[in-house]
Amino acid sequence: MYLHGTSRINEQGNLEIGGCDTTELAATYGTPLYVYDEALIRSKCRAYVEAFRDTGFAFQVAYASKAFCTMAMCKLVEEEGLSLDVVSGGELLTALQAGFPTERIHFHGNNKSREEIVMALDAKIGCFVVDNFIELFELDEIARERGEQVSVLLRVTPGVEAHTHEYISTGQVDSKFGFDVQTGQALEAIRYAHESQNLHLLGVHSHIGSQIFEVEGFVIAAKRLIDLLDEAKHAFGFVSTVLNVGGGFGIRYTDSDTPLEAAEYIKAITTAVREEMSKRNIPLPELWIEPGRSIVGDAGTTLYRIGSQKNIPGVRKYVAVDGGMTDNLRPALYQAVYEAAIANKMNETENEVVSIAGKCCESGDMLIWDVKLPQASAGDILAVPSTGAYGYAMSNNYNRIPRPAVVFVKDGEAELVVKRETYADVVSHDLLPKRAQLQR
Ligand SMILES: *Cc1c(COP(=O)(O)O)cnc(C)c1O
Repeated sequence: MYLHGTSRINEQGNLEIGGCDTTELAATYGTPLYVYDEALIRSKCRAYVEAFRDTGFAFQVAYASKAFCTMAMCKLVEEEGLSLDVVSGGELLTALQAGFPTERIHFHGNNKSREEIVMALDAKIGCFVVDNFIELFELDEIARERGEQVSVLLRVTPGVEAHTHEYISTGQVDSKFGFDVQTGQALEAIRYAHESQNLHLLGVHSHIGSQIFEVEGFVIAAKRLIDLLDEAKHAFGFVSTVLNVGGGFGIRYTDSDTPLEAAEYIKAITTAVREEMSKRNIPLPELWIEPGRSIVGDAGTTLYRIGSQKNIPGVRKYVAVDGGMTDNLRPALYQAVYEAAIANKMNETENEVVSIAGKCCESGDMLIWDVKLPQASAGDILAVPSTGAYGYAMSNNYNRIPRPAVVFVKDGEAELVVKRETYADVVSHDLLPKRAQLQR
């Protein structure tokens, strides 16, 4: 197993993260448990900020909070000076409860409700990333009613397909997101927002996909956005102050993933934007990016306790853990692939190929197919690294399984940042119908 950040094998032969022995964390906080390496998250934040420093661009690095949205994470991101993307009232409230500076919050989403829009306006967030005409007209109307001028970016689909799993490609023409460039919708939306008295159009945004390992997609998308801005400048004199090229920077889950350094993506993007802008004599805009996965993905490790096993001679050995698709939906949803290790047997020879099964009542509830591990026994702690993004965020209560706890670890200290759900939590919203009570 690859050791990210502060992860190492300690003198007891156990996996240690942030100076904490993971077998002790499992004993103290229970399993499954999400463990986050705080120093690694901070270093990822800083890598993006530092990559921009020498480019001469004004910039914002907005953490796409959907990857892992908790109050502790919002606070950490705030301390690192990043901005924050939210896509729902729930994510917005999390940021507000954490005291995140509202002017640095950007609101995304392809179907924001009126209630969510009003909530964000009341909070005086930095800007809305408007996704479609219905939202554009509604926001214009609400802003007029309130007598406010609202800052907006327009999300456009530049027609770029990032090399990634189909379900997480969002830049191609046939997408539920954004104003399409090719059919002229994007230009029309720019005209509308530019002419509106109640909207302050900052510029355009695109997000071309996720888990991207090449710079080309970003460069092509940036060029298309600049072509669009050039058109808008000539057509109705609009000059953008912001260009947002989204997120999607890849991380390492297994050996076959080959992410670039933050600085490599930023260098390619800033170089292309500067070139294209100066060619067309457009003043350099502020450049915004929105990394999510690449800020938190590597920093999270999930700890499980191994339970039952099923050996089918000559076919497969299943090793079951006390979690599964409830705490990590990605294998079932995207066929995502992970590595693993036995946290209390880090120095033992990996002499068995097994498959890791979850405990849900669903054959598709497999966390890892064919992983090499030392001989596993009941009670061992299985560690699955790189689960920091879209793990806790997509966790659910299938089979009425309570969501795990989350701890941040740093310099030998662990701090609980999300409490483990209890069975009582799981049934707390249920109501027995009155009729059933009468029949008892
Ligand atoms: C999901 C998302 C991101 C972040 O994507 P990552 O792959 O986690 O970096 C950024 N911007 C938008 C609009 C998104 O929807």
